[in-house]
Amino acid sequence: MAKDLALSAEKNINASRKILESIYRLSKKHQTRAFLVGGPVRDLCRSKPKNLRSIQDLDIAVENHHAEIGQELAQKLRARIIRYAQFMTLTLHLPDQTHLDIAQTRKETYARPAILPKVEPAAINEDLYRRDFTINAMAMEITKNRPYLMLDPFFGQRDLKQKLIRVLHKKSFIDDPTRIFRSVRFATRFNFEIEKQTRSLLKTAVKNNYLRLLSAERVLYELQMIMPEPKSKAILKKLQKSGIIKNLYGTNLPIKFFSEHGLLPAEKKLTHFFAYLPYAKWLKYPLKKEIAQSAQAIQQFAEPRRKLAKANKPSHVYKTLKLMPGPALEILSQIEPKPIKNKIKLYLGKYSKVKIFTTGKTLQSLGFAPGKNFSQILQTLLYSKLDGKIKNKNDEKKYLKNIRT
Ligand code: ATP
Repeated sequence: MAKDLALSAEKNINASRKILESIYRLSKKHQTRAFLVGGPVRDLCRSKPKNLRSIQDLDIAVENHHAEIGQELAQKLRARIIRYAQFMTLTLHLPDQTHLDIAQTRKETYARPAILPKVEPAAINEDLYRRDFTINAMAMEITKNRPYLMLDPFFGQRDLKQKLIRVLHKKSFIDDPTRIFRSVRFATRFNFEIEKQTRSLLKTAVKNNYLRLLSAERVLYELQMIMPEPKSKAILKKLQKSGIIKNLYGTNLPIKFFSEHGLLPAEKKLTHFFAYLPYAKWLKYPLKKEIAQSAQAIQQFAEPRRKLAKANKPSHVYKTLKLMPGPALEILSQIEPKPIKNKIKLYLGKYSKVKIFTTGKTLQSLGFAPGKNFSQILQTLLYSKLDGKIKNKNDEKKYLKNIRT
């Protein structure tokens, strides 16, 4: 059965063959072994022969000279290079928007649970051993003599067939608790089960609070990886069911959260997620200001909601919403009950775009005494225009004439 998978992987690899041939030539030149590793090998093995397609992003590991090979390959492919020295990795951004990682094979040692490991060069077998799950710990050697020889020391192909997510050793979730998120993400994405012993290790790691040892950056990164997944809602439900949300945030997400989540585009899902969790628990996350402010604005929407329910003029809606961050309003316009949602949509699509002709300069030129509250006048003009009392430039002039005399 493993042979079938390797065969279909080999067929699928055709489209990326040119790049792989270049890597082969360079590895030969530098007298080292090169491998396709991790996600692409897993995905190649999973994809059905009838569904042949090239793999999007290549993950390459070489036993030596990764920097030279990366540099020479980048020149050949006209790629832009980004170097991650501490991870002994180069990322090549190709002109067709795909990317390719070239890494030194390495082993990792964890001084303490949940911190980033110490990394040092090592052979491919050790590199595979440092990985998260059996299905992600396979490699295909890029050689001419033995085309795409499969290295599968932990029986990843068997687990792919049996649809199982399995860690490589008992300390896996303790060494790196981000794997807790990753296990749920992959299991849900592929419709796999988390293997029995792995499930029990996961439960123990959560119960013993290993997740809480992770830095804010690393938890945030995992959440960011979940939100664009097509099955993000199911992933979050499983995280909740496994006690992971409660463990990290001291509370569960309400049922309402899940029905709303499905209504939102991927880029809004993280903001919406934080809106349902206590600010103090995600305060230290290195979030974009816009996301943090929007999540807070959604949390504090009770008062504006009450005002909106009563608002019976466009200017009232405008006044209530004008200080709220745009992304918060976009989210609320999808998830609020109809009467409120409609008013937010009117604000976003219409009221927020209404402009008046009069400016501070106009007021000066009309001889308004300095010291007069210009912004008050401009605001009154705008509100009058929103409510239809003023329609055009002439109306504005008339209004100004009236208040000056
Ligand atoms: P995706 O399809 O989501 O890109 P991927 O398997 O390529 O999946 P990456 O996060 O890009 O995922 O990681 C690449 C590879 O690096 C994985 O396949 C796995 O072998 C290894 N890896 C990534 N994160 C970890 C981790 N936390 N612990 C161990 N190995 C990891």
